[in-house]
Amino acid sequence: MFGGTPAFDSPRHVGYPNVGDRDRLLMRINELLDRRRLSNHGPLVQEFEASVARLLGVKHCIAVANGTLGLEVAMRALDLKGEVIVPAFTFIATAHALQWQQITPVFCEVDATHNLDPAHVERLITPRTTGIVGVHLWGRGCNVEALTDIARRHGLKLLFDAAHAFACSSGGQMIGNFGDMEVFSFHATKFINTFEGGAVVTNDDGLAARVRRMTNFGFADYDVVDSVGTNGKMSEISAAMGLTSLESIDEFIGQNQVAYHHYRQVLADVPGLTVMAYDTAERSNYQYLVLEIDETVTSISRDHLMAMLHAEHVLAKRYFYPGCHRQAPYRTENNVSLPFTEALCQRVLILPTGPSLTDEDRLKIASLLRLAVANGPAVARQIQPG
Ligand SMILES: *Cc1c(COP(=O)(O)O)cnc(C)c1O
Repeated sequence: MFGGTPAFDSPRHVGYPNVGDRDRLLMRINELLDRRRLSNHGPLVQEFEASVARLLGVKHCIAVANGTLGLEVAMRALDLKGEVIVPAFTFIATAHALQWQQITPVFCEVDATHNLDPAHVERLITPRTTGIVGVHLWGRGCNVEALTDIARRHGLKLLFDAAHAFACSSGGQMIGNFGDMEVFSFHATKFINTFEGGAVVTNDDGLAARVRRMTNFGFADYDVVDSVGTNGKMSEISAAMGLTSLESIDEFIGQNQVAYHHYRQVLADVPGLTVMAYDTAERSNYQYLVLEIDETVTSISRDHLMAMLHAEHVLAKRYFYPGCHRQAPYRTENNVSLPFTEALCQRVLILPTGPSLTDEDRLKIASLLRLAVANGPAVARQIQPG
């Protein structure tokens, strides 16, 4: 940060991919090439869907090409239209999946849990509202009970974007079993990956059949098309990666958990920094190291800290800044003010995690943050945020 050699000689990333046993993956790829079955709900996709359904204890799993497409198809299968309530503090795809099909996202506050504030959800309901999309951010479950109750009382559909929450539980039950449907992402940066991919899961037979048909061009039978559909299929090579990832799931969680606790320990004495907690009574994948920075204590802003880390090749990220409601496609139509979300967007910093980091790396990142906080104004003068 003072013009010398960066603390890390190569960049450390958020979302460095988890890769399981390479030999198992290559064996599966060889087999699928021998079979000449590359897509169209082949044996590997079928096996992957069955494995996901078993792990979550959910009746139906439809593997899809990516999480965004899974959200779009789920929204369509649920007949969402008009207005749908979504958190503003989420990845932009949650909102885009609605707007892409002319459904208006109505942006809602989150609370201290970073998930939908049920009281605000209820205040945003209008005669045009058809549904609620909750996001289990960082793998921590939404207030499922309150949202389910609101949806039932107002006759609304309830969908969960569970992109962060694979293998996580809420209230002791596996995420995947809540609302009308839930959607996972298996993008390369997510906890379990299929290069690109996702899954729609539900316990409802009718919805599962609709989603399955929609992701396969509306085919009801061999040469019978009875509805409009798209191509949302997962390919066999993605499923090969997914199955291989699933075989290492306990190892991935174990590594993430060790790294998370280590980070917590080495950051504990840095004033003004709080590491987001995971509920130890729940199952979590420990994929995200979420820092909240209290600038009144650190006397250096989140953006200055981030710029300092970037200068040292630590590619920390401010997630969801400046909030979906303030991104170009949404800020004019929805002239809403969401003070809690906006403050959160100034405060949150995600640190690199995953297999690219050693214990020594985490110690080094903690010392950089400690040094920057101890010399806040001097460091802030030295570094240009942005
Ligand atoms: C990653 C992500 C998505 C999109 O998933 P893709 O598989 O990348 O399309 C949607 N919502 C949230 C919260 C995400 O983190």
